[in-house]
Amino acid sequence: MSKVKKKIKVIKIDVDKCNGCRACELICSSFHASPKYSSNNPERSRIRLIRDPIKDIYLPVYAGEYTPSECTGRNKYVLDGREYSECDTCRASCPSRSLFKEPDSGLPLKCDMCDGEEEPLCVTWCLAKALTYEEREEEREEEPKLGEMEIGLESLVHRHGLQKVMDTIARLSKKG
Ligand code: SF4
Ligand code: SF4
Repeated sequence: MSKVKKKIKVIKIDVDKCNGCRACELICSSFHASPKYSSNNPERSRIRLIRDPIKDIYLPVYAGEYTPSECTGRNKYVLDGREYSECDTCRASCPSRSLFKEPDSGLPLKCDMCDGEEEPLCVTWCLAKALTYEEREEEREEEPKLGEMEIGLESLVHRHGLQKVMDTIARLSKKG
């Protein structure tokens, strides 16, 4: 495999600065609406705020990889004396919860770092500066990149089986 230079994009989250305003959820869902900025709905956001005001918990979490099955062993974090629920820090779009799934189709959502924008919009819109953006270059082995369509198809295949998905595509292509 050949080596390629890869841009590593990092969003640093300072949970102590997050005030729970949810502006990040609004701008993310609005940026990814179709047409762009035509609507906003936090359920469609690729960043979600895990929120428990009684425990003073405000934890922004980014949508990561899709996983077809939930894990059997789970983590529970206690940070700064605050106990987080199981799965709170997890970024996966997973069958065990509704987070990071497109509400109409159920397809997985994944943060794309606002592809094409100079800076992730959730970072720009976080006036509390709980989110900050960093970039660096690293040399890596080249690997095939899954686009949104592949991720969506993979999740449909896991849910309904390959044959059913292929039959549906064949039926749709006949309709033209
Ligand atoms: S915009 Fe910033 S302060 Fe507001 S909820 Fe999101 S991370 Fe927290
Ligand atoms: S970086 Fe962009 S896509 Fe990712 S959560 Fe923030 S606004 Fe959404």
